[in-house]
Amino acid sequence: MPGVEFYAAPTSLEEAVQRLAEGNGSLYAGGTDLLPQIRSGAKVFERLLLNIRRVPELTGVLRTNGTIRIGALSTVTDILKDSLLQESATILPEVADCFACGQVRNSATIGGNICNASPAGDMIIPLLLLDAEVELASWTDGALTKRCMPLSDFFVGPGKTRILPTEILTAVKFAAPAAGFVAGFRKFGARPAMDISVVSVGVSATLAENTLRNTRVAFGAVAPVPLRGRETEAALEGKSLQKTVVTEATHTAREEVSPISDVRASAWYRKELVGVLTERLLTHVNQSAD
Ligand SMILES: Cc1cc2nc3c(=O)[nH]c(=O)nc-3n(C[C@H](O)[C@H](O)[C@H](O)COP(=O)(O)OP(=O)(O)OC[C@H]3O[C@@H](n4cnc5c(N)ncnc54)[C@H](O)[C@@H]3O)c2cc1C
Repeated sequence: MPGVEFYAAPTSLEEAVQRLAEGNGSLYAGGTDLLPQIRSGAKVFERLLLNIRRVPELTGVLRTNGTIRIGALSTVTDILKDSLLQESATILPEVADCFACGQVRNSATIGGNICNASPAGDMIIPLLLLDAEVELASWTDGALTKRCMPLSDFFVGPGKTRILPTEILTAVKFAAPAAGFVAGFRKFGARPAMDISVVSVGVSATLAENTLRNTRVAFGAVAPVPLRGRETEAALEGKSLQKTVVTEATHTAREEVSPISDVRASAWYRKELVGVLTERLLTHVNQSAD
């Protein structure tokens, strides 16, 4: 491990944040982003390598009253198989089922997907639809301290978030979806599996008498950060999904995003994909209402 002088594998959150508070620490969860980035030279290890995989407070999916809490160390496989999520927030296992392959899913954690802050991070899209917030822990003034922040405020740019170097993302939390909640996710990659999203789109709403309420739209890989599609949401809110509404919302979605051209797709192609995927999702949501 080049650059690593100390290695620690704490067995409690308190111990983990205390070690991190010493400064110059790299956190290691599943390693599926970190190790390729180290090997390619995109990142370097800090002096202390902190393996957080043995911290029990970072594991598990729990429902307390109306709130669902997913521990940061939950892997994509855990999310795919979790019975509480399959019942109450199906969109998360659905997205997990579009993620990489079994081998990567077994290591990749939800906390790592969020903290890696890729504009194409797949698990972030359903969490934006669910209005999730992140829970961050640190050792401050001699005590274990926690703060929460809306996920939509967490991202600053590609690979950059508002987490402090002394903080660990402990969990992601959201209110359990209400009755009538429908949601869908589509991603497009050059291959059907094992591909990073060229574009991803998520749509959710609560359907009452065929009308969309609390509409949420989220886009991946079309901006420096994964983001909510506020204009598309406004074009859908309070409407029923007649053809004219779908056409207008699809047009709004295409116009709302400003992607870049890169090796994987041109900006024009990404905009077209946003339109196509949004239209397919709205058709899916409409069928869920029948
Ligand atoms: C072959 C392959 C296929 C992939 N396919 C997909 C895909 O389909 N969709 C997709 O979105 N991604 C994909 N990825 C990317 C990667 O698997 C995910 O982003 C994964 O969720 C990262 O989680 P991890 O636990 O491996 O993170 P790590 O690599 O351990 O960490 C990533 C970053 O987050 C930080 N970190 C991790 N956990 C915490 C925490 N709790 N608190 C604070 N900081 C933390 C680390 O310090 C590091 O900077 C793929 C990667 C590979 C190698």
